[in-house]
Amino acid sequence: MPKKTVKKKKPLVDKALLDILACPVCKADVKLVDLRGKKKSSKEKKWDGKLVCKSKKCGIIYPIEDGIPIMLPPELR
Ligand SMILES: [Zn+2]
Repeated sequence: MPKKTVKKKKPLVDKALLDILACPVCKADVKLVDLRGKKKSSKEKKWDGKLVCKSKKCGIIYPIEDGIPIMLPPELR
């Protein structure tokens, strides 16, 4: 069977994985932001997307590079 190009975008992070991911700092849920095809800042250039901590107090951003979320607190990166 010939390989067809799928129009629908593959999810950046597997839904099941996203469900278990949490902010390592405050343990809150994280929100996925898909940056593919979007305008990015120079900091986000290498990223496919980012995970943003849902806690208002925390709000740490975790980059996703090559589809792999980097769940490290900023001071350990
Ligand atoms: Zn957090």
